[in-house]
Amino acid sequence: MEETLFQKIANKEIPAQIVYEDELCVAFRDVSPVAPVHVLLVPRKPIPSIAAAGTEDAELLAHLMLKVRDIALAEGVSESGFRVVLNTGVDGGQTVPHLHIHIIGGRSMQWPPG
Ligand code: AMP
Repeated sequence: MEETLFQKIANKEIPAQIVYEDELCVAFRDVSPVAPVHVLLVPRKPIPSIAAAGTEDAELLAHLMLKVRDIALAEGVSESGFRVVLNTGVDGGQTVPHLHIHIIGGRSMQWPPG
């Protein structure tokens, strides 16, 4: 199966500003940031979206959530606040079919989202 864009970034076949990586996941700066802090956290496993995750991914998903916490702290937005977004499917506005978590901060967010 062809690699997803985010697998190519994780495998360093496409350049990105990587801010964190381990054996399970990679985090890098979004190429079109919507806020002063905009990091994408992706599992190395190419799960297409959160809707396609399985029970067997439970530990991986928990790992990702704790990395969200760590990255927010490292990016200096843990105290001021930040937003965590998982765009999913067509109505969710997902454009890359590889599960990714947006970590967005450094400015005040609006609600509801567009
Ligand atoms: P989504 O719309 O939730 O699927 O988010 C995909 C995100 O990937 C968008 O915010 C894009 O700006 C970002 N993106 C696309 N290509 C790259 C890339 N090569 N490096 C970093 N971020 C990217």
